[in-house]
Amino acid sequence: MRLTAPIETLFRIAEPQKKALKKLRIKTAEDLLYHFPARYGDVAEMRTIGSLAQGETVVVFGTISKLQATKAFRTKIPMGTAELKDDSGKIQIVWFNQPYIAKMIPEDALVRVEGRVSQRRPKSSDTNRSTLNAKRSFYFSNPKIEKVTSVPTGVGGSLFGEDGEAHHLHPVYPESQGITSNWLFHHIQKIIASGALDTLVDPIPPDILEKYHLPSLKTALIFIHAPQKAGDAVGARKRFAFEEVLFIQLEKQKERKLWQKEKSFTIEKGEEHIAEFTKRFPFSFTNAQNHAVSGILEDFRRGVPMARLLEGDVGSGKTAVAASTAYAVITSRPKDQNYGTLQVAYMAPTEILATQHFESFIEYFKHLPISIALITGSGCRKFPSKVNPAGWTDISRSQLLKWTKNGEIAVLIGTHALIQKSVQFKHLAFAIIDEQHRFGVNQRKALVHKEMRMPHLLSMTATPIPRTLALTVYGDLDLTVLDELPPGRKPIITEPVAPANRDAVYEKVRKELRAGRQAYIITPRIDEPDPDKEFAVQARSAKSEAKRLKEKVFPEFDIGVMHSKLKDTEKERTMEDFKNGKIDILVSTSVVEVGVNVPNATVIIIEGAERFGLAQLHQLRGRVLRSSHQAYCYVFTESMGAKTLDRLKALQTAKNGFELAEYDLKFRGAGQLSGSKQWGVSDVAMEALQNLKMVEAARAEARRLLEEDETLSHYPLLTEHLTSRKQDEIHFE
Ligand code: ADP
Ligand code: MG
Repeated sequence: MRLTAPIETLFRIAEPQKKALKKLRIKTAEDLLYHFPARYGDVAEMRTIGSLAQGETVVVFGTISKLQATKAFRTKIPMGTAELKDDSGKIQIVWFNQPYIAKMIPEDALVRVEGRVSQRRPKSSDTNRSTLNAKRSFYFSNPKIEKVTSVPTGVGGSLFGEDGEAHHLHPVYPESQGITSNWLFHHIQKIIASGALDTLVDPIPPDILEKYHLPSLKTALIFIHAPQKAGDAVGARKRFAFEEVLFIQLEKQKERKLWQKEKSFTIEKGEEHIAEFTKRFPFSFTNAQNHAVSGILEDFRRGVPMARLLEGDVGSGKTAVAASTAYAVITSRPKDQNYGTLQVAYMAPTEILATQHFESFIEYFKHLPISIALITGSGCRKFPSKVNPAGWTDISRSQLLKWTKNGEIAVLIGTHALIQKSVQFKHLAFAIIDEQHRFGVNQRKALVHKEMRMPHLLSMTATPIPRTLALTVYGDLDLTVLDELPPGRKPIITEPVAPANRDAVYEKVRKELRAGRQAYIITPRIDEPDPDKEFAVQARSAKSEAKRLKEKVFPEFDIGVMHSKLKDTEKERTMEDFKNGKIDILVSTSVVEVGVNVPNATVIIIEGAERFGLAQLHQLRGRVLRSSHQAYCYVFTESMGAKTLDRLKALQTAKNGFELAEYDLKFRGAGQLSGSKQWGVSDVAMEALQNLKMVEAARAEARRLLEEDETLSHYPLLTEHLTSRKQDEIHFE
């Protein structure tokens, strides 16, 4: 068996499974081997029908019969029904909305059924009494079902015996509709049994494996898919996590080395020069801000392109750092030129934010003899306007492109529109990316690869991420953390609210609104859930919540709605109205999370808080941390379970977003950290990010390997692996 062979050439695969495999991104036998179990279940959850009780989630093996596609008696919902039998009893199965399942399985087939046991309330109108009574009134509702060829040993026999045999580890794989964990397990075992693992060569150098006591590739694959004991699986996962972090580090460190070979601009401006500018602010900089500015100025002087990440909590004042370092650039002449200035590009993820920065930068720099421009999807602007030197004017795109290219525009602010090929600079010396996590790697690259000389790059983010994750995914960047908030801010009062106290909170909000303040109300959804989706999660939607609030709660106030499906112009108008106070309450999805600044908004209500990560909740509440008024954050949840309360407690007491990110990583599971996909890191590696030592070891090894052998010429396997990872990456984007 060749591991690179497409999977359908190795096994007979039905159409729905093909689709599912595609969704899981499994193309080859090797991909399948790298589809790791999400967890290890206990075989003990396998049960006999006679022993079932309501509410349990179980696996049952049995013979299926009376398969029927039908419609529910009164609601006419299409459904499939069947009866499942084993030696101990019978139970009814119902698949609402999935009548076809009844046609996919032959009568009297041996099947594995996995699902939750429900109990039906007996109704006199039930016509189908006899089958429903099959096993008292228990039934499986929409369980997973799969044909099997045999019942695993242990079920109904020794499994429930005294010897405890049953507790061997049984891998549970991430599934996709059309493919079950069991299918994945069996096919992976077939690949392993074929001996194909012997053809694998371990890309990790043996001395590294030895040093960290990691299992070899082959052993690890066997361990992860069929562990004999818990330690096997742990060791294997550790190895794969290490491998992945090592590869990410190698990539990032390589990029870093390449980047540092590029030519850049030497900008010789010292702290005194910047002080002339910063004294214009109505506040003095925090130590953290000063420190960040000094670090950047130092990078500017070195002639090597800077690549720096500025991580700072919401409201920590990143814009002021960006502006004062931009000041150093736009007050510098291009080399051998006694006119004009070096240029700055400032990219923001949304039009609202880009426009807001454009306005702020006009304020900051209006005393300088320079032009500032804005480019977004909906048009271009320039300051100063010829007709009205105190303000900006709309200009055509072609004018903007011309003036950017000939160097007349010193600061160009914009959205993604900024990275189009047609946007060319004369002396782009400084590229700033705001809320950089909103951009893909390629977009960041497109911004800096504008000219022969590399601009200095400053990436900014308020997304607090755990240190281990930062060291990994930002391994190519230098890190500056703004770990200090400007003084004088009253800490925000965060209060979890029990459903019964909803009205009391609305009254408190009303009081704030009457005092002239404004409020955000954040909902987890845009629209009402699709009523046809029977099991769709019920969560408050922005649109319906706005309507309800206007009708029932706050008829005397103006309410606006904001969500990602609005057109950019509508978003901008709504934001503008909110900023100007035309709107009192902004009901929004989490799109406002990013950087928006409305100092008069002092209250935020967050609905369905369990749907957000803590770090994200923290960012949301940062929206009302913008002024000296006391700010309030009321958190509504759909449940008040112990876990939810613990999380909310953390939200109340945490000193900053980083602490909360660490909490998310520990308690909510790595996969929940705003989705591991966002970081391009697998679930296994995310798990490992809880282990700082391991991350540091992988980083150190990557550095050492590249220092000893810059091109990795002695490690062809590593290089090959890196190349294939790269291809995957390009493929995803
Ligand atoms: P973020 O880091 O979230 O981008 P901003 O740059 O938007 O934060 O700053 C938030 C607010 O804090 C702004 O209104 C800004 O003027 C103000 N600010 C920034 N630095 C200071 C400081 N050192 N002292 C007081 N206020 C400051
Ligand atoms: Mg900001």
